[in-house]
Amino acid sequence: MLVKYAKYAAERGKKTLFVVPGNLLAYNLRQKDHVEAVTWHKLIGVRPTEDGEEATRAINIQDYQLIVFDEIFTYTMRQQARIKDFMEKSRDMWDEQGNYTERKFFAAGDTFQNLPREKLDVPNPRAFYNDNMARLFPAHVDLRVNKRMDNEADRVRIETFKKDCFSLSRDEVAAKYFTRIYDAKATMGKAICFTNKEVDTVNSVLHNRKVAERKAQNESVHEHPGSPTYYIGMILCCRSQLKSKGKVFYTNFEYRIEEITEWGAKLWDFNADQVDDSTTSEHLEASFTQLLSHFKPNYAHTGHSSQGLTFDSAVTIYGHNNWHCTSEWLYVAGTRTRRLADVYYFRGEPQAHGKTESEFLNNVRKKIRSCLEADARAGRRYEPNTEMTEADVLKLLRTVKKDTPTEWHLTCPSCIRDMQIFYDNGDEAQYSIDRIDSTLAHVKGNIQIICLRCNKAKH
Ligand SMILES: [Zn+2]
Repeated sequence: MLVKYAKYAAERGKKTLFVVPGNLLAYNLRQKDHVEAVTWHKLIGVRPTEDGEEATRAINIQDYQLIVFDEIFTYTMRQQARIKDFMEKSRDMWDEQGNYTERKFFAAGDTFQNLPREKLDVPNPRAFYNDNMARLFPAHVDLRVNKRMDNEADRVRIETFKKDCFSLSRDEVAAKYFTRIYDAKATMGKAICFTNKEVDTVNSVLHNRKVAERKAQNESVHEHPGSPTYYIGMILCCRSQLKSKGKVFYTNFEYRIEEITEWGAKLWDFNADQVDDSTTSEHLEASFTQLLSHFKPNYAHTGHSSQGLTFDSAVTIYGHNNWHCTSEWLYVAGTRTRRLADVYYFRGEPQAHGKTESEFLNNVRKKIRSCLEADARAGRRYEPNTEMTEADVLKLLRTVKKDTPTEWHLTCPSCIRDMQIFYDNGDEAQYSIDRIDSTLAHVKGNIQIICLRCNKAKH
């Protein structure tokens, strides 16, 4: 949509610059959509360091009349504040004849996705992000439905898929829309995993499979003592920022192995062809030790790191049945391809959470006890035998429970986020028994289950 708009603007002599959170996204936009695209860091001229960030040369935006922030909902509140500053400073522009024009800013993104990784002390973070975005871009947010699916039937189907994500259990959704695989070795295309641990496991299975395939086809692989096997063209994802030979590798950015030397590897940055950029045009180098400690293969991604990416290949989803997995996560993972028929899911053994049903019941009883004690302390009185019972609470818990009988998975009805039934002390994502009318005690009919965060925000 915005790419079309940019092309339309270009025909009228206006240049557009796309701004995205990651280097691979920028690269894909340049390669596939033939638009100019830079990373967010490059736009404002900073780069992250271990203890904060340092200034670097920002891109010259002189010629761009339109600036489009893509994947806008992946930015943290702090980054959004910087975008606001940037827009205020860069709004004014003069053309060659010295006439004033106003630079235009647009944003695009999907509101139905994972929230940025930051803790916000607000009752409904999703609404908070959306409101803030509406303030930043009052008239120019392009909320997209889904632009990836390449056929009409899938575009219709994806709407049902989205609804089902919220009304069915995640296992039911996966079974309804995707094809099941039983063995990680049978992973189709890219893997999207819920946890980093799954990313590591799946990466190693897929890397071994790939290396075996290359060997079978007499394609070269590089085996260096004490180091994993690499091959030319292999893509590595940087786990944590690294400075090597004066160049910086960024966290979550992707690099391609161009050459393997005695010392390590020469890598190509997907931003090497980025507009107005001399800092990343050369090859970067990392030693074997650095490769091992700072990079991972990119066969598997987390849901967060796959946000905004479109894979031409198939996708296999791992961990949709995880306790903490959300409907949004499954939706993001299930919509990275161009055809729903290209989505697979892995379903092995249920997640071992190491907790039993009896531990769960003990926890419920403990919670009820402490609520009734709080009522007594606060002097909230009630008629005998009207106080909530274990059966009442279990019944309510069942209404906010979304998964199969063997797996408890709760969603807070107030903020639609995950609610934990096993939690660390003080974790605000734990379920809590809330008094609907806060002047009354924990009596039958006056209780509901919401997360502790929402509960605290209410009282
Ligand atoms: Zn909540």
